[in-house]
Amino acid sequence: MQKIITVANRKGGVGKTTTAAAMASCLKKKGFRVLLVDLDSQCNLSSNVGADVRGKNVLDVFLRKAKTKDTIQQSSICDIIAGSLDFGKINDALGNKTGREYRLIEGLVSIKDDYDFCIIDTPPELGIATTNAMTASDDLIIPTTAESFSLDGVSQLYENVQEVWQYTNQDMKIAGILVTLYNNRAILAKNMREELVKMADEMNTKVFKQTIRRSISVA
Ligand code: ADP
Ligand code: MG
Repeated sequence: MQKIITVANRKGGVGKTTTAAAMASCLKKKGFRVLLVDLDSQCNLSSNVGADVRGKNVLDVFLRKAKTKDTIQQSSICDIIAGSLDFGKINDALGNKTGREYRLIEGLVSIKDDYDFCIIDTPPELGIATTNAMTASDDLIIPTTAESFSLDGVSQLYENVQEVWQYTNQDMKIAGILVTLYNNRAILAKNMREELVKMADEMNTKVFKQTIRRSISVA
């Protein structure tokens, strides 16, 4: 495995799932072996790529109920460990078990030589799922719209990032903040982008030059 990449933001509707799927698709087209992991109990990523969420899935990996290899399915893009509609259970199931932040990385060990990239989509709420994702990751990509509510999501996520740096994975890098659903013509959005650059500075990262424009075909 060359890289494990988490896509996260504390807000929903900012393009996390779309970013994860698009990145996986591009890397796959370049010839890399790519694995997607869906940690959101909404399972949008899994359903978007035609994965079955009723079979063995990421909950089985977290609860050590199946071999990781047996939870992997082929999707329309690349291999995927599908999400679980019951994934909300995970916080209770793992409770205050020691090492609960490491369930995902432990699950990925046995398949790490089978893939070049692993891309993890996360839910908006910050719980054990997102912490596991960041604990397992080399890189974090933070998609955000240029609106104040999603900027709040970035700062809330950053609090979690700092905990991960302190306790479970000091090597994770924030690769950058990705502005999504962008409309160049909106002046408000431009001001927001400047705000975001300031924020990225404080987080020792950058705002990617490439923004993702709002597009009917994506929607
Ligand atoms: P999140 O995972 O953060 O909740 P999604 O990736 O599911 O966000 O995107 C939220 C909604 O916006 C979805 O309906 C998606 O299809 C749409 N969307 C995402 N990116 C774009 C885009 N570049 N242009 C238009 N619609 C988009
Ligand atoms: Mg999503």
